[in-house]
Amino acid sequence: MKVPLLDLQAQLAYLQDDLIKAVTHVVTSTRYIQGPEVEALEKEIADYSGAKYGIGVSSGTDALLVALMALGIGTGDLVLTTPYSFFATMGVVLRVGARPVFADIDPVTYNIDPVKMAEILEADKEKKIKAIIPVHLYGQCADMRAILNLAEQYNLPVIEDAAQAIGAEYPLSEGSEIRNLRAGAMGLCGCFSFFPSKNLGGIGDGGMVITQDKDFAEKINLMRNHGAHPKYYHSLVGGNFRLDPLQAAALRVKLPYLDNWHRKRGENAKLYNRLFQETGLVGQGKIIPPVAVYLNTREDSCKTEAHHHIYNQYVIRVERRDALKEWLLKNDIGCEIYYPVSLHQQECLGREYKSVSLPESEKAAAETLALPIYPELTSTMQEYVVDTIKRFYL
Ligand SMILES: *Cc1c(COP(=O)(O)O)cnc(C)c1O
Repeated sequence: MKVPLLDLQAQLAYLQDDLIKAVTHVVTSTRYIQGPEVEALEKEIADYSGAKYGIGVSSGTDALLVALMALGIGTGDLVLTTPYSFFATMGVVLRVGARPVFADIDPVTYNIDPVKMAEILEADKEKKIKAIIPVHLYGQCADMRAILNLAEQYNLPVIEDAAQAIGAEYPLSEGSEIRNLRAGAMGLCGCFSFFPSKNLGGIGDGGMVITQDKDFAEKINLMRNHGAHPKYYHSLVGGNFRLDPLQAAALRVKLPYLDNWHRKRGENAKLYNRLFQETGLVGQGKIIPPVAVYLNTREDSCKTEAHHHIYNQYVIRVERRDALKEWLLKNDIGCEIYYPVSLHQQECLGREYKSVSLPESEKAAAETLALPIYPELTSTMQEYVVDTIKRFYL
């Protein structure tokens, strides 16, 4: 049996007609820059996420970049972030001329550890840290309650890297009530990616910044278009970070499916968890399945079924990871390492970070493996995946 890591053909089977119709509509409209499809998607994603404003941009990377640019972060500044993420999280910091400072991750969620963040912020006597970028890795929110408290204490903006987490929910208290807030809508702004492998993926690159802040939204809106207002008058230096209307049209076809896709990914995760338990490998410590830590926090307080984890990736921690990966690929099972190198050890950083030690992030980079979790995955395929892993450890 062949089990790909992701199978976009499986969703194309029911989306193709509508996608082609939507794309054709853009082609025949001749509205090729900004326009009604982009505006409609901005409103729909902002509504979906519980934010006031959405600004479509060219990619998830550019969403993060334009947010840093709008905050005026640059040379001499530090940005506090996680060492365990896709390169873009750190790349944008370097591109504006700032430097990243890393707080190690929590070994259970793989997200940035607020206790480590607090130590770093406390030690930053010169107040060089100018922003915080938490990442909601694999589709589970970072510990935003603690992060927002630190941000308030140190008066720092929070840019949520929600590239893997659109629609993921986090239980945040508002007064005496606990409400499930959605990824991207808790900090100053949230950044989404519509890269085709994300839960909401386009037919190419795309991204969005969402925010509750009117002035910040206006600034991002200007920055994505060379800072021009009015046309040809530039009070700010931005760039061409616009979202393509073809992408907006395709994403509008897909958005109505998103909650159902999240639900199916959640069910697949549950089945994997049960099957792995039954192998005995979890008890023996050979496999640690992912943990949805907020799953049981006041589930009763929300009206609908909450997406505390949207499983953009289902990532296990295993013994003899590299050999297991080879074994799975040999057995036609797609799998991938997200991510094999902790960001502080990336070559592009040079010698400055050589002495930095982030043991949990380094350990995760050496021990984790992502398995197929896409919505159209069948239970037979999942049983084959688990059985193949079981045979590896026999
Ligand atoms: C995908 C991703 C990005 C970048 O998004 P692109 O649309 O590919 O530029 C940034 N951060 C994280 C955590 C991601 O997974």
